[in-house]
Amino acid sequence: MCFSTFQPLQQLSYFCVMNTDAVKLLPGRYCNSLTEYSRFVTREVFIGDVPMGGNNPIRIQSMTTTDTMDTLGTVEQSIRMADAGCEYVRITAPSIKEAQNLAEIKKQLRQRGYNVPLVADIHFTPNAAEVAARIVEKVRVNPGNYADKKKFDQIDYTDAQYKGELERIYQKFAPLVKICKEYGTAMRIGTNHGSLSDRIMSRYGDTPQGMVESAMEFMRMCETLNYYNLVISMKSSNPQVMVQAYRLLVETMVAEGMNYPLHLGVTEAGDGEDGRIKSAVGIGTLLEDGLGDTVRVSLTEDPEAEAPVAIALVNRYSSRQSQARSPESIMASQISDSGLKTQGLTHNPYVYQRRQTYEANAFIGGHMVPRVVIDLSHQNLKDPAVLNDAGYLYSPLLDKYNMAEQSVDFVYLADALPSFTLPGNLKQLYNYNTWQKLADKTNCHPVFSLKEYTASADRSSALNLVRIKSGDVDTNVFGMLPIDKSLVFILETDAQHGMADQRSFFFKMEELGLDVPVIIKRTYTFEPKNPTQDLQLHAATDLGALLVDGFGDGIWIDAPQIPVNVITSTAFGILQATRSRISKTEYISCPSCGRTLFDLMVTTQMIRSRTSHLKGLKIGIMGCIVNGPGEMADADYGYVGSGTDKVTLYRGKEAVKKNISSANALDELIGIIKEDGNWVEQEAVLPN
Ligand code: SF4
Repeated sequence: MCFSTFQPLQQLSYFCVMNTDAVKLLPGRYCNSLTEYSRFVTREVFIGDVPMGGNNPIRIQSMTTTDTMDTLGTVEQSIRMADAGCEYVRITAPSIKEAQNLAEIKKQLRQRGYNVPLVADIHFTPNAAEVAARIVEKVRVNPGNYADKKKFDQIDYTDAQYKGELERIYQKFAPLVKICKEYGTAMRIGTNHGSLSDRIMSRYGDTPQGMVESAMEFMRMCETLNYYNLVISMKSSNPQVMVQAYRLLVETMVAEGMNYPLHLGVTEAGDGEDGRIKSAVGIGTLLEDGLGDTVRVSLTEDPEAEAPVAIALVNRYSSRQSQARSPESIMASQISDSGLKTQGLTHNPYVYQRRQTYEANAFIGGHMVPRVVIDLSHQNLKDPAVLNDAGYLYSPLLDKYNMAEQSVDFVYLADALPSFTLPGNLKQLYNYNTWQKLADKTNCHPVFSLKEYTASADRSSALNLVRIKSGDVDTNVFGMLPIDKSLVFILETDAQHGMADQRSFFFKMEELGLDVPVIIKRTYTFEPKNPTQDLQLHAATDLGALLVDGFGDGIWIDAPQIPVNVITSTAFGILQATRSRISKTEYISCPSCGRTLFDLMVTTQMIRSRTSHLKGLKIGIMGCIVNGPGEMADADYGYVGSGTDKVTLYRGKEAVKKNISSANALDELIGIIKEDGNWVEQEAVLPN
């Protein structure tokens, strides 16, 4: 490879060593608007026949899980993925031989009439990337491991040493860029939170800024070489980190005159309900702000199961009216939509900070975890077992309730009166007129309209809930609102862009200096096709997008078609995914790929079956030792494939049992958890 044609190294802009204080965090400058839907228009990038970015639709993609040397298996899985809606198919290329086999896979796909663009997934192996870039339509490189290493070493670089490292990386990376230019191949610079290099970690720490800088270094090198066919991603298994990193990336890109398309994804999201909710919290939050040009949902399920989830997430925006603006307008935009002022607002979209509220009589707000409200008014209120689905397990034999891990805090009964006694720690909410007539108001609280509350002299001394919409703040009635520490708002919306409508309410509260706790309520009706999944995705997007910014002291999902137990677990799942209330074990399991050394779906279920009661623990389940330990991010324990039938167990980032038999690995993992004092026995279920 000839380097002599490249510019002299000292002239290259990527050698500017960023000061860690250099990125100015200016609230509101990561998207066109915080209060109306406006898609961030990016540069159009060409990937085979399916361009991305610009005004193209948000593209759907996924990744194969087969061994790349299994040509037929990979071709057939790619076809299933394309048939399920994948517009790009990514295939791992761990070494040169797999990279070479991409040619055969591509040939067979084309022979079968599938022109879906292929993407080679590269970690650690520039030589494989250089082969693949001549074959497929796009290569993905991970800047954390393309030319850097990760040994969890903390290194104190001088600026000169850091610059020297960038020069070394440039020498390794530039040949790939040159090939991509020559062959018209696109490239994704895909940063993962879990695989930041020791160099980046040493300088920026394990932070969104480190993630952004990791990609920006490579992007600057590409631009120095006049190569612009780039897509960028900032993935993490923690949706909050992921959201902050993408936002900061956009602000940083725009500040440097870039607007590359964004590939959105939450890594190691897991499976089933957890995987869908976690993905929606991360991906949906960004889509709500008009960010994202392609989506990959990573589930520990068959890859053809991922596309329908991604499609369901993206479809919400296909008809949403975009208030189009030029990318440059971001620099000039303030969050002044609806009269909001940037100045004076403490909301910082790059750092989690819970909105400060008062504690309403030890029920809600303040430092208390967000509360969960569900509507039982249409259920059979003659049967105490109705509360089972709300997390209160009733034993007729003992005539008592046992609280499950996920027990709701408030039930809304409207005007319906139960014919049994509810558990003492479960608060009941009634419409104001009905509440007034209750003989015994213990644990019972009124729900008012705004007008009722301002007009009423008869209020609860403990807790009063008032239904409100964003626009109510501008009315005269709101101005007459008596505010004391019994008041809690129930924030509703009927706006199409409901999240932003509700977010604007929180900004208005801040402008007015009001610290009233707020329960965020959303009401849903769905097509009968897949209502449970739709609920998980929509509610996780709408409520999650507010919770990741610290907005909301409680959530209330109203979905009359959906069973109560599904609503309950969805609500707690959203709180878990936003890390605002932990009620169960968290599994950080990779989606598997051609490197995977065991059946991830079966193994995840096996581990879950024995550890799902360990509330608050995070367990990583990773298919390979190459990427797994890094990708587990902040897991407390790790179960990582390290060879055929071999597993290595981790305590945090430390490998504590290496290459043990997979037959004993789960018992050994439980042994480590017990040693650490983190094990509890599962509680026996109460007899019926
Ligand atoms: S951690 Fe999982 S998805 Fe990632 S490379 Fe390894 S096996 Fe593949």
